Amino acid sequence: MLDTLIVGAGQAGLAAAYYLKQAKKDFLVIDAHARVGDSWRKRWEGLELFTPQRYNRLPGLTPPGGDRKLIDRLEAADYLEAYATHFSLPIQLHCTCVSAKKAAARGGYWRIETSTEVIEAKNLLLATGAYKDAYIPAQVSNTFPQYVKELHSSEVTSVEALINGPTSVLIVGAGASGQQLSRLCADAGAKVTLLGPKVSNLPRTLLGKDIYFWLYASGTMSLRTDQFPGKLLAPDGKGIVTVGEQPLPATIDRQPHHLQEYSDGRLRLRTADETYQELIPWPTPGHRGIVIWCTGYRNHYPFLPPELLDGAGDPAHRGGISTVDKSVAFLGLENLRRPSSSLLGGVGKDAGEVITALLG
Ligand SMILES: Cc1cc2nc3c(=O)[nH]c(=O)nc-3n(C[C@H](O)[C@H](O)[C@H](O)COP(=O)(O)OP(=O)(O)OC[C@H]3O[C@@H](n4cnc5c(N)ncnc54)[C@H](O)[C@@H]3O)c2cc1C
Repeated sequence: MLDTLIVGAGQAGLAAAYYLKQAKKDFLVIDAHARVGDSWRKRWEGLELFTPQRYNRLPGLTPPGGDRKLIDRLEAADYLEAYATHFSLPIQLHCTCVSAKKAAARGGYWRIETSTEVIEAKNLLLATGAYKDAYIPAQVSNTFPQYVKELHSSEVTSVEALINGPTSVLIVGAGASGQQLSRLCADAGAKVTLLGPKVSNLPRTLLGKDIYFWLYASGTMSLRTDQFPGKLLAPDGKGIVTVGEQPLPATIDRQPHHLQEYSDGRLRLRTADETYQELIPWPTPGHRGIVIWCTGYRNHYPFLPPELLDGAGDPAHRGGISTVDKSVAFLGLENLRRPSSSLLGGVGKDAGEVITALLG
């Protein structure tokens, strides 16, 4: 029987594996993907990380490239693959966790059914990602006619391939993904409408230094979000700011409102306090219409016993350790322990602490 089974070989699973290897434990990492780093590879062409390379370091191995470099998705993927190789981490790819059940025998252990075999382990660590299951608000989405192509930001692979001929692109959600995809679509020649309340964009640089320098140097990124005062940074467990893209091209029609519905060739918009409504004709006559939903993720865990989840279906945990069963841990979730918990540069610190707690 293994000491620990890690589900997920993204950055969170790899950082946990690093600490288990240091502790000389018998463990295995499984992942549904074909290659380590595939979560990054499957994201859209042209994706640029918002964190400079200096803040993308996993424990024990500095990523290549200059400190200030903003790398792309493939460079991030290659770093993860090189990391797994460098530390010879035991990883089984093409292996999906189908169900995990606690067996009462032999003092209690986890019996994990995967797509390839059954694995037994004392501890179970879930590193399946904070941005796993795409969320599209169905009620609004259903108001678009079939001839309008709709896709979630996670389904965009190549903006160039998406936009051929006169195209109006509606981007719903103005966070980091919405802003970056708006720019790429506009650069590819589309008429872009970006919808969604303004998010608090931190400036890219402050006093000549990258904003992440100040966020890390001030200790903000290390504040525990499950304790005061760090809790104020994540009132509902979610991050509240994003780092600003350069100013968006003036050709982008920026509407800081919510989308209510699409009817009779118009977008019906409303303000958060419901005091204002507007109707905008869309798409431009003669254009193909494409909607890209940048509306985030709601993760589901069908392979876990329901008692490990809270009423909203999220893992019930304190600082990454399950509040239901101390042999279960979670890593990589937004604000799991800190504002940096779901980031490349933050998950390592969490991993060290969570593994220490898990090994007891
Ligand atoms: C568009 C986008 C841009 C981002 N940009 C940045 C950035 O600039 N800087 C930064 O630091 N962070 C960024 N992030 C956040 C974060 O770094 C990434 O989401 C990162 O991929 C999270 O790593 P992870 O290991 O937690 O999860 P993932 O990379 O999602 O890895 C989870 C792994 O678990 C596997 N898995 C899931 N379920 C199962 C199962 N049942 N059985 C087996 N395997 C399973 C998946 O195959 C996957 O490989 C970005 C996120 C997104 C979505």
